[in-house]
Formats: sequence, C-alpha cells, structure tokens
Amino acid sequence: MRTKACAILIAFWLTCNLFASAQTSQIVISSRWFHPRDSSDPESTLAVIDSIKPGRIDWIYYENDNILEEYRSRGLEFSLAINPQIADSSGFTTKKHRILDYKGETFVAPWMRKWKNKNPYWGCVNNPGFYSLFLERTLFLASKGPYAIMVDDALFNVQLKGRGGCFCQFCTNKFLSLFQLNSTVIDHLTKAVRKNSKDRTSTERSLVKRYEDFQFSSVVTFLSKWKKDVREHNPRMRFLTNNYNGSWNEIYKVFDGGIAELDSSKVTDETLDLLYATADSMGKSQLFSIATTSQKTHSRLVKYNLKHQRSLLLPWDIFIPGEPKRYYMGVSEMKSMVTQ
Ligand SMILES: [Zn+2]
Repeated sequence: MRTKACAILIAFWLTCNLFASAQTSQIVISSRWFHPRDSSDPESTLAVIDSIKPGRIDWIYYENDNILEEYRSRGLEFSLAINPQIADSSGFTTKKHRILDYKGETFVAPWMRKWKNKNPYWGCVNNPGFYSLFLERTLFLASKGPYAIMVDDALFNVQLKGRGGCFCQFCTNKFLSLFQLNSTVIDHLTKAVRKNSKDRTSTERSLVKRYEDFQFSSVVTFLSKWKKDVREHNPRMRFLTNNYNGSWNEIYKVFDGGIAELDSSKVTDETLDLLYATADSMGKSQLFSIATTSQKTHSRLVKYNLKHQRSLLLPWDIFIPGEPKRYYMGVSEMKSMVTQ
C-alpha cells in the first residue's frame, strides 16, 4: 500500500514538473513554404499553428505579405530564410555570380541535383555582384519584420572542400594577389585538384590546403561584412544558420544561433547536455531537428527539451534524405509529445 502511495506521489510530482517545464520551453514550428500548396496538399500551416499554438515560427521562405500577416495576427515571431541560390534574373540563377568548380562548371549541391528548381546554382562569396544580390535580398527580407534572418547552407564555397573550392576569376585573382603568387599557381592547383587526394604530392596537398583555407576565410569575411551591413540598418536583427550536429566552426560562429539537424545517434542526455552547454558558453541559441520519421526518436528529444526548459522544434516539415516527400508529424501526435 505504501509503495502504491509512493508511486502515485512520484507520478504526481513528475506530471507537475513536466507541466512546469512545458511552461518555460518555447514551442517552435517551421514551415519552409506555406501549406496547403495546392488543392491536393493535405498539410495546413495555419491548422498546425492554431492547434499547437507555438510561440514562434522559424526558417520560412518569403512568399507574400498576407502570409506574414497571418503569423503576425497570431502573435508569432518569425525568421525569414535566405540561401546561396538567390536568383539574379526572374527567378533564375545565371552563371555570372556563381561558384565555378575547377572544370569551370556552376556548382549544384549534391543533394539538390535531382530537384527540379530553376535556381540551382550557388553564389560565390568572392563575387562582388553576388554580395550585392545577397545583401539586397536580406535587406528586403529584413523590411518584412522578422526577428531573425536564417541562412540555409552557410558554408557556401566550403561545400567544395576536397576539390579546392571556387575557381571563378574573383577567387583566383584574390588568392594570387593576397599571397603575391604567379598566375601559373592556378594551373598547378587545378592539376592537383583533378587528382584523387591520395595521389597528390605533398607540395600539391599543401597548395590545395592553402586554397581551401583561403576559401574558408573568404566565407567568414563575406558573412561578417554582410552581418555588419544588415545591422547598420537593422540593429536588433538576429542571425541564424543550420549548424549541422550543433557544431560551431568559425563560419557558424558569425551567427547568433543555430537550427541544426541532429544525427539520431546523438539524441542522448550526455550528448545533448554537451551540445547545449557549448552553445550556452558562446551565447548562441540552439534548436535541433532530426531527419527521421521515428516518433520514438522525436519523442526522446522533446522529452529532453521539456525537462531542461529548452526551446523545441516540432517535427513538421522535415527533409528526409532519399525520400521524395518531406515529413509532417500528425497534430495529435505532436500534441501528445509536448504534454507527455
Ligand atoms: Zn569564386
């Protein structure tokens, strides 16, 4: 009898504790694009919002003012997203502002190759035309009243790591003048990059590394200048990025917070404690999402976040690698998770 009473007391305490946590953990949803997209789309962004009543909506692509007004009228803060594929011509990405690989071909992210979008090419951070385009688009988004700008794929040129980076005239000229090198260096570099990394000589390896370090620092310079320029007009603007697995390299450190895809194996108390402590120590905000349809795994992350009063991103509108469709957990499942 005493054991039973004790169990009831513990259950009561746990319920109260989780309820108290739910009061302090901010619930966030994302809707990259507004749903329903058409009459056959079963998802509805507003239905999810009205049912779950999140405190914030993050990482949305701007479509029109009416949608933002829907969020605003519900008291929701929102962040607007931008990526390296800012279109420069009627929705298209033309070659003149773009990353060119060692073969002179425009770069398309490997996971986007099968997507049928009309703006697949990534901009180069050393191209002044791309900088103007990126800044102009950001200032336009900032004028729509988001609390933050979210940069998706902030690695830019560094996505070509292993193959040198971008070989456009702006990159190669900047590299040569920065290190006062002869233009034949670019021929050596291109030759080295064409080889498998294990077949490169030590001189070639160090040249490729030097070029890749230069590409990395170019991304940091680009983002730091962009952030400063945006803040000049919008002093309170925050900047977010998708820092995969909660990592904070020098590129991600330019931002104020991260919304990271987290590998399922990292959803443990120990790893989450460490990842959040790292973000806290740098004064960064951090949200995690998991690219899985496993409700059990999502539930484990939600439970951790509620227990530790961390903001949590609900698993709705998630890209699952290899899957043709994004994942949208049902509203009742999401509700039961946050009140577990
Ligand atoms: Zn370039």
